[in-house]
Amino acid sequence: MKYISTRGSAPALNFEEVLLTGLASDGGLYVPEVLPRFTHEEIASWAGLSYTDLAFNVMYPFVEGSIPEMDFRDMLRDTYEESFSHKAVAPLTQLDRNEWVMELFHGPTLAFKDFALQLLGRLLDYVLEKRKEHVVILGATSGDTGSAAIEGCRRCKNVDIFILHPHNRVSDVQRKQMTTITGDNIHNLAVEGNFDDCQQMVKESFGDQSFLEGKSRLVAVNSINWARIMAQIVYYFHASLALGGPHRSVSFSVPTGNFGDIFAGYLARNMGLPINQLVVATNKNDILHRFISENKYSPEALHHTLSPSMDIMVSSNFERLLFDLYGRDGKALAELMASFKTDASVSIDDYRWKAARKLFDSFTVDDEKTCQTIKAVFDESEELLDPHTAIGVESARQCRRDASIPMVTLATAHPVKFPEAVEKSGAGVSPELPHHLSDLFEREESYTVIENSLEAVQSYVKAHGNHDKAL
Ligand SMILES: *Cc1c(COP(=O)(O)O)cnc(C)c1O
Repeated sequence: MKYISTRGSAPALNFEEVLLTGLASDGGLYVPEVLPRFTHEEIASWAGLSYTDLAFNVMYPFVEGSIPEMDFRDMLRDTYEESFSHKAVAPLTQLDRNEWVMELFHGPTLAFKDFALQLLGRLLDYVLEKRKEHVVILGATSGDTGSAAIEGCRRCKNVDIFILHPHNRVSDVQRKQMTTITGDNIHNLAVEGNFDDCQQMVKESFGDQSFLEGKSRLVAVNSINWARIMAQIVYYFHASLALGGPHRSVSFSVPTGNFGDIFAGYLARNMGLPINQLVVATNKNDILHRFISENKYSPEALHHTLSPSMDIMVSSNFERLLFDLYGRDGKALAELMASFKTDASVSIDDYRWKAARKLFDSFTVDDEKTCQTIKAVFDESEELLDPHTAIGVESARQCRRDASIPMVTLATAHPVKFPEAVEKSGAGVSPELPHHLSDLFEREESYTVIENSLEAVQSYVKAHGNHDKAL
């Protein structure tokens, strides 16, 4: 499988190379040159498979040529059978007639990001061992990504992981999930600044890696990394098969920030899975909702909400959808993104926008409605939703086109990660930490507070990485 850039002028890469790359050299994002496509008969024959076996069937075409079949099977077994606490991996819970949530929070850090980052860690370990190379993962987090990346890569031999978080600005649970994992390749940095400062320093470091003096290179763990999108395609197949697919169509509602998770659903459909409707569920940071309802893509000021993992101004993966809407014309997309950069706003040709509207609907839910939904759903069915998932459920109810088609909301996090919203909802229950994390608050933390300066961060990375020892 070859991967090409959305902006058309970077070299095509194979899976192994794309795994170790962030943005393409032309500023675009990598996507498969051709998507694998499965027939209904083929998909139907996967009914009843374990999550691991299904994951193999869905993902193998993407890694073929880089990883032998048996090795990939072993990696998937280790990922989904050892690291998830529920035997079904991604169990479905019913809320109402034809209405479901798919619980994606049974991984080690209680958010859906574990599905991709647990696999990413194993993929990196495998590929780096083979190439005898060392890499540095450098990432910024406002919460969920950091802990999932650390959990996913903690055992990687040839990886040092540095995660920046804004000092005193992440929740206690989220900070503890990052800082109580210890290992000489894990480095938590609490930056005396805000999340944007952290992100900016990461961006600049990727742009100019000379501070590493050629001893290592940076790898991205945010959702611009193709491997993350790939791993998320699987659970759309898993839900559909459980609910009568592919003989029956299914719809999904996805709590959305950077458009990575829902983009995986769009790919599942293009690979042959009958999906009727995809609902983009947003909080007050509603740039995607404004695009889908008004054909205007333009960032506004950042709002801090009760669903912080969706607090974004622009959605990095949206470019991957635009690439398809532009007939995969990299040159045209490069021009569009350049005009977005100068004007901070774009609209696309009406017929292209209408093509997107055939599949996508969208909705925006404010904090007050988020809390009301948590309470209402708990009263109706005793299912306690986290605030992100509540936005998904409310959006699904508002946008649903056909009540006879099953609607599945992706439950992206466990409610215990966001106790503030649950408490404000008045549902009258406090979510509890699952067994494997029940002593989280007693565990010892380790992190370094660092000044808000690029130079300080880069010299820390250079001084503390195991670049020389690793090989
Ligand atoms: C990351 C995250 C999201 C947003 O996912 P995207 O792929 O960025 O759209 C939603 N909910 C939770 C809990 C998350 O951690």
